[in-house]
Amino acid sequence: IEEKDGRLTAPDKVVIPYIEGDGIGPEIVTAARRIADAAVRKAYGGKREIVWWEIYAGEKAEKIYGELLPRDTLEAIKYCKVALKGPLTTPVGGGYRSLNVAIRQKLDLYANIRPVKWIRGTPCPFKYPEKVNWVFFRENTEDVYAGIEWPYDSEEAKKLRRFMKEEFGVELREDAGIGIKPISKFATYRIVRKAIKYALENGLDTVTLMHKGNIMKFTEGAFMQWGYELATTEFRDKVVTEQELWEKYEGKLPEGKILINDRIADNMMQQIITRPESYKVIVCPNLNGDYITDEANALVGGISTAPGANVGDVLAVVEAIHGTAPKYAGKNVANPTSVTRAAGWLLNYIGWSEPYHLIEKAIERAVLDRKVTQDIARQLGPDVKPLGTKEFADAVIEYIESDEL
Ligand code: NAP
Repeated sequence: IEEKDGRLTAPDKVVIPYIEGDGIGPEIVTAARRIADAAVRKAYGGKREIVWWEIYAGEKAEKIYGELLPRDTLEAIKYCKVALKGPLTTPVGGGYRSLNVAIRQKLDLYANIRPVKWIRGTPCPFKYPEKVNWVFFRENTEDVYAGIEWPYDSEEAKKLRRFMKEEFGVELREDAGIGIKPISKFATYRIVRKAIKYALENGLDTVTLMHKGNIMKFTEGAFMQWGYELATTEFRDKVVTEQELWEKYEGKLPEGKILINDRIADNMMQQIITRPESYKVIVCPNLNGDYITDEANALVGGISTAPGANVGDVLAVVEAIHGTAPKYAGKNVANPTSVTRAAGWLLNYIGWSEPYHLIEKAIERAVLDRKVTQDIARQLGPDVKPLGTKEFADAVIEYIESDEL
């Protein structure tokens, strides 16, 4: 895959590395690869082809190489520029740090892009799912996710507590663990820049900065300020701030401009429910982004159908937004939709938009015809017989291969 001016072009035979992942990973990634292959075959009649290349991370890597994230895996992604990744286990409350976070940080995949749209027919708790069309840009490298934290009884925590007391007169409880939340202008600028560029390229007229700046003034508050600063300097002729909207334009956005506004995180969590159509592109620091994207996806049917992409200036690693769902591992019952849509997103990213659209349409057709896995079937009612992971993939492939789409 070649890169020129931040855009990728792929050869007709494109090598795409993939990581199977842990838990349900191998089953859902196999299904996704089969579906992607079928879509490419149908779209290009054999002229184009994906050559899948397995690379390793997580439990499988540990078994084969004795390490969880081999350096060659990262090198392979850098060389190929893209990868498809299954979910990876992260132990809670101890053990090794998240490999997902490590991959994002080591490859500097600073934007976690999560499109949220309802697949028609999917049961969901939201009354107006058709109004949902959001793309979240979650900052991926900073915030409390940077992993700068120490247990309460560590030497580091003791030292820090002492230092804070002596230098700043700040007293912390002796049994307080300590975490640090860095948010920089550099990282804020580049995520907001990417989000505004995306909005411009895709004809979306609103970019919202989500933050908790009323409480965390110099991290989340600064995120908001730097966001506006970037927007009104680098994109001055293309954006209108919310303040300008009312002061200069009587609340009516001029044709061709993008509205840039901000919402405090808790308000944002409810605004996407009460005024779904008012939001298009939402940019958030890491932790807010984690919470709100799961909420957003739950509204339109749950995390098992939602794709995510981790993107740097050029590199992209796409994945399901859910985890390894260990209780379903090896049972052929997991829903492969999330990682399959992620594979579709990746094809679109390398310029192959036709198979991407085929995948989206075929999944929707399957759901409308109630050909679904157990997670969706159980919400549709007792008369819907759930398909296994493999059988669901077979059904989607059948739609792709038919001439109905
Ligand atoms: P999870 O794996 O996402 O599973 C939570 C629940 O969501 C499951 O019990 C199941 O719900 C449902 N679910 C998720 N994916 C599904 C699928 N494809 N098909 C059907 N149902 C699905 O979250 P978790 O249990 O909190 O985390 C498990 C492990 O995954 C942890 O080690 C965590 O760190 C890791 N994780 C990895 C990633 C990543 O790789 N990017 C992301 C998140 C979590 P029901 O029980 O209601 O059926």
